[in-house]
Amino acid sequence: MKTLPPGSTIGILGGGQLGRMLSVAAAQLGYRCHIYAPNANSVAAEVSAQFTCAQDDDIASLTRFAKSCDVITFEFENVPVEPLHQISSCAPLHPPIAALDIAQNRIAEKVFARDHDGTTAPFAEVSDRPALDRAIADIGAPAILKTIRMGYDGKGQSRIQPGDDLDSHWQAVAQQPCIAEGFVTFSHEFSVILVRGQDGEIRFWNTPHNVHEDGILAASTAPAPVAILDQQDTARALAARMAEAMNYVGVLTCEFFATKDGPIFNEMAPRVHNSGHWTIEGAITSQFENHIRAICGLPLGDAGLAAKKVEMHNLIGAQADNWETLLSDGTNHLHLYGKGISRPGRKMGHVTKLHF
Ligand code: AMP
Repeated sequence: MKTLPPGSTIGILGGGQLGRMLSVAAAQLGYRCHIYAPNANSVAAEVSAQFTCAQDDDIASLTRFAKSCDVITFEFENVPVEPLHQISSCAPLHPPIAALDIAQNRIAEKVFARDHDGTTAPFAEVSDRPALDRAIADIGAPAILKTIRMGYDGKGQSRIQPGDDLDSHWQAVAQQPCIAEGFVTFSHEFSVILVRGQDGEIRFWNTPHNVHEDGILAASTAPAPVAILDQQDTARALAARMAEAMNYVGVLTCEFFATKDGPIFNEMAPRVHNSGHWTIEGAITSQFENHIRAICGLPLGDAGLAAKKVEMHNLIGAQADNWETLLSDGTNHLHLYGKGISRPGRKMGHVTKLHF
């Protein structure tokens, strides 16, 4: 294990709020961050030492960036993989590229979970319109049609009810290769958030209970209710097996549905995750700090709860315009991502409250 001393440069692929919070955590430990992102208005670059604004497949810019870094990580799982192979000799990359390969493809991710003894919703690949008829005949409705690639926050998804006209659903996902998933009847949603160090040590944060609205995370609360805690060990064991199989380094998040038959794996994010934002104030060591510690080969920090109960609410769209009211409660920890104009469905910030 190679320890990168403070003062070293951490490269981050992606320039959104996750990169911003990673960069703040890195700065606190004395590191410099270099953001690489295609968008000039990168909210991560605003708080970082260096910024390269270039496309993800611009090999010359990527190589220059990689040579300026002592380690590289990413805050966005849809970074194209092929260019990363080309820069892999310039600086170590954590988490591994294999994790991106799996997480970028909803089918590969579910197969990977099943291969490690996880349970998923029934699913079928839908590569063309006739395959959609076959898939729904096979798995039934209700079902959800999701694009295999590039979907997030409920985007690229269409919910199918019994008797629906399937043409409109196929149009809704822009006729792209999809996965059709059986609709899971769940009591709760939760995520397992773990960090794995370069020596293989794994630490878990308290399991948050997640509530989604319109496919977007609205709130996370820890500790979770008993119905989730009863399923935590099985879910954690699966996430740990998957992390070990990938020789993973950094923070890994796996999302689950709690059902009467146990935890159903939904998806994994090979990065820090929105359902872990509460850890900034609500855990002894945040997901952002432990990700930096892991990729730099430092000892991992304690992931225990810092309060009796912690709740995090996302500020979506215009909800962030309410910042003055939120600040008038002095126990709120307000985070605004500096994105400027709010748009419906856009994650603008979050607010965390600790209960002692
Ligand atoms: P995803 O993009 O897969 O995280 O889906 C976003 C949200 O849609 C999830 O957090 C769930 O609330 C809901 N959802 C996704 N897939 C399913 C499913 N197969 N059954 C029931 N709800 C689902």
